[in-house]
Amino acid sequence: MRFVRFTHGTAGKDRIGIVQGDQIADVTSVLDDLAPVGWPAPPGDALIAAWDDLRPKMHAAVDGAPRVALADARLASPVANPSKIIGAPVNYQKHLDESRESKEINYGSHVRTIDELGVFLKANTSLVGASDGVEIPTVEPWSGRRFDHEVELAVIIGKGGHRIARDRAMGHVMGYAIGLDMTVRGTEDRSFRKSLDSFTVLGPALVTADEIADPGNLDFSITVNGEPRQASNTSMLVYDIPRLIEYASSAYTLYPGDIILTGTPEGVAPVQAGDVMHAWIDQVGEMDVAVR
Ligand code: MN
Repeated sequence: MRFVRFTHGTAGKDRIGIVQGDQIADVTSVLDDLAPVGWPAPPGDALIAAWDDLRPKMHAAVDGAPRVALADARLASPVANPSKIIGAPVNYQKHLDESRESKEINYGSHVRTIDELGVFLKANTSLVGASDGVEIPTVEPWSGRRFDHEVELAVIIGKGGHRIARDRAMGHVMGYAIGLDMTVRGTEDRSFRKSLDSFTVLGPALVTADEIADPGNLDFSITVNGEPRQASNTSMLVYDIPRLIEYASSAYTLYPGDIILTGTPEGVAPVQAGDVMHAWIDQVGEMDVAVR
């Protein structure tokens, strides 16, 4: 299933749907069955927490569902309320190499490995969908800085857990999406430089795990204004997906809807307002994301 959250002119925002060809079957009606959330809300995304119950209802609702042309929908992040966005630093060897060689990337500091760094967190408020685009700030302290794209396979956690063993990790994955881990180069902590509003793009859809034969062997790429920038395969990950889940959950409990950005390969490069990024991951999909 290719699940989307979208806005449509006549129907309003926060619609949910299933992509079928160039159309979306609007199955928002199934949300009527979602239990109301009181206070305090449990950590994680309520829709993904209820996924096992909602998924068959969405399938059942498809036949009578209103249709929206995919081209007419504005795609929001398919995960609305993650408890965490987890990033994997320098998780491709050739990106580690280029980071060590380029002062424009490393700003004169020694680039450490993921073994030495651990994983990092991005602000949840940085999360947007494909149609939202990325906003480059023009105010201090950001004006005149270098802003880079990082294309990554994003893993969405379905079943939460703490200290998840590697051999059980994939059972906690409910799906995948393309992730853009936008970054300002500089000396500040990663969590600051990567957490600006709109600096985590997730989309275009959330593709359920059953649709992806082998997430550890997916070609992916990004172009900017048609110019090739990054291209690699997830088999080149230093820490693979089960290891990232084991590693992250050794520290903190994972909740439904948590997003793991698995890391970016070599070829990170600047973008500026007016650019259009085109990101693609085999079997997961493709999306145009505007920079403004
Ligand atoms: Mn990254």
